[in-house]
Amino acid sequence: MPSSRLLSSVAPCPGAAARAQAWLDGALGDAELAEARAHAAACTRCADVLAVERRFREFIASRAPRPLAPATLRLRVRAALGTAERALAGRT
Ligand SMILES: [Zn+2]
Repeated sequence: MPSSRLLSSVAPCPGAAARAQAWLDGALGDAELAEARAHAAACTRCADVLAVERRFREFIASRAPRPLAPATLRLRVRAALGTAERALAGRT
């Protein structure tokens, strides 16, 4: 079940789940963010929705595999560094 659907089933205020998602995505403008913060400070149920979404995201992030750069990228970086070092050594 998508987290937004889960949250909308417990969200007390219209748009609370979508607002929490947008907040944590950094998609709210300054005025919207200030309004959301003020609301969450006064509405414990919306604050709970936000906390659940935060914990959900942290859980997913902790389980996600860490991306590894391909071996060919490592070789290309090493080659570029070697070229740069040789160029610097040639200047002295
Ligand atoms: Zn609320």
